[in-house]
Amino acid sequence: MSDTKREIRRAKMSPHERDRRSQLAQLAHGSGLLRGTLAIRERVCGKPNCKCAKGEKHVSLYLVASYSGRVRQLFIPKDREPQVRRWVQQYQEARKLLEEISLLYWDKVTKRQE
Ligand SMILES: [Zn+2]
Repeated sequence: MSDTKREIRRAKMSPHERDRRSQLAQLAHGSGLLRGTLAIRERVCGKPNCKCAKGEKHVSLYLVASYSGRVRQLFIPKDREPQVRRWVQQYQEARKLLEEISLLYWDKVTKRQE
């Protein structure tokens, strides 16, 4: 598509769509995107003298996600928690924006708009 055609298409967009697309573009350009659900798991390590053997279990963060039909769990080391939380949140924001844009196009088809 030529730049001019692209400009014309963009001019036809509603402000709502333009706004969602520009937010999505910002996320797509520079942000980490990670799909999954964060879950806290408690576990015992197996060392007989550890505090966890007396009931004070180790608490770890995992990312749970299904890829290719398989549920996978990823252990998140403490020092990466803030970064992973940010990436997961950014993925969710991007997904939400995509959904909103998709709904606009759903409406276009429903209302027989271009
Ligand atoms: Zn332990």
